[in-house]
Amino acid sequence: MKYVCVSGGVISGIGKGVLASSTGMLLKTLGLRVTSIKIDPYLNIDAGTMSPLEHGECYVLDDGGEVDLDLGNYERYLGISLSRQNNITTGKIYSTVIERERKGDYLGKTVQVVPHITDTIQNWIERVAKIPVDKSGIEPDVCIIELGGTVGDIESAPFVEALRQFQFRVGRENFALIHVSLVPVINGEQKTKPTQAAIRELRGLGLYPDMIACRCQAKLDKHTIEKISMFCHVGPEQVLAVHNVSSTYHVPLLLKQEKILDFLNQRLQLSAMNVPPEMI
Ligand code: ADP
Repeated sequence: MKYVCVSGGVISGIGKGVLASSTGMLLKTLGLRVTSIKIDPYLNIDAGTMSPLEHGECYVLDDGGEVDLDLGNYERYLGISLSRQNNITTGKIYSTVIERERKGDYLGKTVQVVPHITDTIQNWIERVAKIPVDKSGIEPDVCIIELGGTVGDIESAPFVEALRQFQFRVGRENFALIHVSLVPVINGEQKTKPTQAAIRELRGLGLYPDMIACRCQAKLDKHTIEKISMFCHVGPEQVLAVHNVSSTYHVPLLLKQEKILDFLNQRLQLSAMNVPPEMI
């Protein structure tokens, strides 16, 4: 199983969900079976009780699960059917751990965020990633994990720590991280400082970006890409320029042009998964 994690920095709402579903769609074009998990670091068990004025209408899955709209993107982009387990919230994780604590499952141990919450998150991801999501009933090859919110928030800290540990649990060749950042344009100039700060924060938490997806209102200048590459300690081919497009259904094409598949193939050794080389 390969995991592609999509996290975000600077501000929320810059297109993590669209980027994650588009990446999944491109991997699907290689003949891989793709599933997805959305992490929402809020204490609600699910989106069912949340005001539509705050997060928009909730999306209802086939099993009746009321979840974030992003899961609808995944179902449409990937042609799959997800269950409520594909949406992890802080509420679900804590209630699982507290329930186990009341049953005495922790054998008298002090129950803590690390390792009990972080282990529960990792076990949840590993278990749910294997659930078939299409009619074939076959286990997926790739799981896209979208971490909602912004890295550095108190809310997402247990998930960031769980993912930091998870990359070692599953092995480097099975885990890639795409960090979505914003490149604002101020007085006509593309500014890279927010991205530099976001990547410094990410690295400080032990997560190293394999690709930095930069959302910008216009195409990224060569100079901006070089600057991000230099100050964020990645190669220029690891900087993905995601400019505004008229329809989000154009984002997969944009990512293909940016050679995301070449990079993921090399990073996750996808060719070893029966992907014909001419497809990449
Ligand atoms: P996040 O997951 O970071 O909260 P979303 O993926 O939900 O963000 O996207 C936020 C908004 O930005 C959505 O309305 C989406 O349609 C829009 N969007 C995302 N990527 C692009 C893009 N490349 N061009 C234009 N609009 C985009």
